[in-house]
Amino acid sequence: MGVPIKVVYCSEISDVAPDKRSICFGHCELEKQEIRVYSGGTFELTWQTIMHEALHLIGDMTKISILSMDSMQKHNELDCLANVLMDMLIRNNLLNIQEEK
Ligand SMILES: [Zn+2]
Repeated sequence: MGVPIKVVYCSEISDVAPDKRSICFGHCELEKQEIRVYSGGTFELTWQTIMHEALHLIGDMTKISILSMDSMQKHNELDCLANVLMDMLIRNNLLNIQEEK
C-alpha cells in the first residue's frame, strides 16, 4: 500500500500477458507494481479489469483471505466484487473518469 501502481494500456490483447501466449484482459505483477490491461474493449470492460487487477494486488499486499486466489470460486467472487464496485463508483459519479468519445 502507499505505492503508485503503473497501468499499461495494451491495444493488442496478446500484449497483456507477459508470456504473450495467454489471452487475458488484465494482468498484474506485485513485484513490478504494474497492471497491464487490454484497452481495445469497452470503457466499462477496461475499468472493470483495472479494478479486478487492483483487487489482486490488494490481496497480495494485505493477505486478506477473501481476495486470495487459491480457488477458481474465489477468483470468480473477486471478479463479481470488481464488477459491483466499478458499477457503484461509475453510476454514482464517485470516480473522476470519463469515456473518450
Ligand atoms: Zn484475475
